[in-house]
Order: sequence, then structure tokens, then C-alpha cells
Amino acid sequence: MDSSNKKVRVRFAPSPTGYLHVGGARTALYNWLFARQNKGVFVLRIEDTDQQRHNEEAVAAIIEGMKWLGMDWDEGPFYQSQRMELYKKYCDQLIKEGKAYYCYCSAEELAAQRKEAEEKKEAPKYSGKCRCLTKEQIDQFEKEGRSRVVRLKTPQEGATIVKDLIRDDIRFENGLLDDFVITKSDGFPTYNFAVVIDDHLMEISHVIRGDDHLSNTPRQVLIYQALGFDVPKFAHIPMILGPDKTRLSKRHGATSVIEYKKMGFLSEAMINYLARLGWGHGDREIFSRQELIDLFNISRVNKTSAVFDIEKLTWMNASYIRQMAPEKLLEETRNMLESAYPEVKDIESTPEGKERIKKIIVCIQERMRTLNDIVGLCDFFFLDEIKYDPLSSEKHLKEEGVKEILTRLAKALETVEPFTKENIEPVFRNLAKDMGIKAGKVIHPARVALTGRSDSPPMFDTVELIGKEASLKRLNEVINSKL
Ligand code: GLU
Repeated sequence: MDSSNKKVRVRFAPSPTGYLHVGGARTALYNWLFARQNKGVFVLRIEDTDQQRHNEEAVAAIIEGMKWLGMDWDEGPFYQSQRMELYKKYCDQLIKEGKAYYCYCSAEELAAQRKEAEEKKEAPKYSGKCRCLTKEQIDQFEKEGRSRVVRLKTPQEGATIVKDLIRDDIRFENGLLDDFVITKSDGFPTYNFAVVIDDHLMEISHVIRGDDHLSNTPRQVLIYQALGFDVPKFAHIPMILGPDKTRLSKRHGATSVIEYKKMGFLSEAMINYLARLGWGHGDREIFSRQELIDLFNISRVNKTSAVFDIEKLTWMNASYIRQMAPEKLLEETRNMLESAYPEVKDIESTPEGKERIKKIIVCIQERMRTLNDIVGLCDFFFLDEIKYDPLSSEKHLKEEGVKEILTRLAKALETVEPFTKENIEPVFRNLAKDMGIKAGKVIHPARVALTGRSDSPPMFDTVELIGKEASLKRLNEVINSKL
């Protein structure tokens, strides 16, 4: 919880890159959780000053990701591209106050300065050449129509201390920072300038963002100071890495949260996973959304980077799927199921059929890791012709005596009425007893004959749900085959 009296106002400020990146989603989530637990305000701001106009599609993709994850915002989306006058106003103010100045240095001149610094093995720094131009020089450059940028006059002595809620204070020597650009030659503000104006005008109390921006923060603090604005609190979240410990990128797999939706991940599992990726509460793994709001603690976010682990996300997703009401799981997967097995629609048109589908869902729920698993896990419930896994057939159907076992099983199942798991189980057990063999000797080959594979949901439920007619047909096909 935030203990200061200031109303908590936080923001998520993505650049419209075309999709909501996993790292961005986690930044958004930490902001959202912080806002919700402090009864604060969550602002969405699109940082699109790099574009001439904001790209609707790129913004829509970010919004789609936010909506999928259930991160609702209270204000916005604001677009920086629509706030140009504000940036200009504050830039003009700084020039008027002598805190910023026009710089007319050409690209060639700047490149030469950079080269010189490189040769001297110094960090490239603007020389400050245009800091003290006379009015006459300025007039002359303007007359020549030279292009110009605006630079902030930064202090060359002392240090700028960035206070951070996650890590210790960070000290940046001012001497290392140059007079950086706040307005580019095309009139657009730089990221550092626009972000400060917006965070101030939007009364942002806490800036929670990726630590890739840490090196920008002292520059932003200098802008706050030049403008006489209060500096917000900062929290820089360590990056998300791939398994090879480099920054998470497309090389490691999907980086867009919507890709995870398409792969069959649940938004609740994704939220839970992202929250845990960089923050923890003891060794607990599963948290509901409300628990995250209550327990999340920004100052307990890890100081070191986190590695994105798809296996763990998948494990978490499976655990959420297991907890789902079957009706809900069916709703979530209905489109996939109906397009793979059009007969589902027909089956569901009767109350018994509806019940059967529900039981099928319950049966396979335990085995699902993603929603997309549903199609592959229940083919044998719906297909007329099932596919036989060659390894399973080899192992369980070709043994001596299997045909006799299956023949006797088929005969015994024929008389089972009603065809329920309670009535089916004794048939298997009695047959094994009569033949003086272990129950497994009946169950294993029957499983392969009925489902095509050697792993399936619990056998007797499965046989009931395949139904008498299809079960007998499949057993007889195996019996009459040339195996
Ligand atoms: N627009 C920046 C980005 O997408 C975020 C800036 C910030 O949070 O201050 O990385």
C-alpha cells in the first residue's frame, strides 16, 4: 500500500508497436494492481510522438491485449500526438526562462563531435556549442533557414539522485549528462520531454516502468526541476529474459500476449503468471485477481530480472483449467470443439447429449494444459474412424491372447444395460477374474482398441461416453483385423 497522502495515480504508457508485449503487459499489470489496491487511478497513454499520426491498428492491438487481461483503465487512452501544443508551450517557457536553447549544429558537426569523443575514449556528449549563441547568430541561422532542435541546459556539477521504490537510490553524476534534446527538428518532443509534461499534467504520483528506462530517469528529473514540477516516485521493474538470459524477444517464442490467448492460455492464468514473474508472496503460486490486488507489494518486486518460463505458465494454466466449472470450460472451447467436430452441435440438441458433452469435458479437464488441447484430447469421443497410435497398437494389441480377451469383452459389454460406468467396470473386472489374469491385461488393450492410444481419461468413464454402439464397433474392428 502507498502510505503517502497523495492520491495514487499511475499510468501505462506504451508506444504503439503493434502488439502488447509480455513485458509491457507485466508493467501494465503492476501499475493496475497498484492503482486498484490503493483505490487510485490507472491512466492509459499512447506514446505515439514517433509517428506523424497514430496508427489505429497498433493501438487497437494494445487495447485488445489489455482487455483480454481484464486491465481496465480509468482515464484515456490519451495520445501524445494530440498533445503537441502542450509540449510546445512548456518548451517555449524553458527557452524564455533561459533553461533551454536552440541548437543549430548540423548532423555532420554532431557526428564529428561524436567521433572525436570516441577517439578520446570518452562518452559522446554534446559540446554545448550553441548554449551561448548571441541574438545576432541566432537571427543569422534563422535567416539561413537552418534546422534546429531545442536542448535543455543541464547542470554540469553535482549529481541527480533517482529514488526508487524497488532498488536503492541511484546516483547519476550530472557531468556525464549533456544538454540533451527536448524538441526535435520536426517540432516533435523527445520521449523524455513529453513523458515529463504528461506525467505532470496527468498528476502521476508513481511512475512504474521497465528498468530499460532507468538511464532516462535522471534526464527526466532534470526536466521536472527545470520546470519547477514535483518529481513523482519511481519504481523500475527489472526486465523479463528468455531462457538464455537475454532480453525476451521473438527469438524465444511468442512475445505478444494475444499470441498466448491464441495458444489457449486463460487470461487469469496469464495475469497470475505475470504477477509472479518478478514478485512473490512466500512460495505461493496461485493467486486470484483479488488476492493479487490485496497482496501485491511494489517495494517487494525483485531487483533482478526474471526468466520467462513457458513450462511454468503452462502448469499454471492447467491448474486454472482444472478449477473451471465444466460449463465455463465448454463455453471457452465451444468454437474450437464445434469446428473440429461438427456433430457436437447435434449431440447437444438433446438433454442426454448435453449431459454427455458435459461428462466428456469433466473427463478430459484434468488432462488439458491449454484450451487448445481439447480438440486432440477428445477425438475418440466424436470421430467414427479413430486413429491408432502405432506404438500403442504394437505394445498392447499384438500380444498373444489379446483377440480372445477383446472378443470376450465385446460379448460381455453387449448385454450391459444401461451402459454406465458403474455397470461397465464389473464387466472388465469379472472378465479378468474369469480368465485368471490381472485387470490391466483387459484394460490396456481395450483402451487402445477404443481410443487408439494408451493414455486416456479414466477407462470406465471413457467407455460409457464412447457409448455402446461405437465401443462394440471398435472392439470388433480390432478383433477382425489382421493384427
Ligand atoms: N513509451 C515507453 C515504452 O513503451 C514507456 C515510457 C514510460 O513508461 O515512461 O517503453
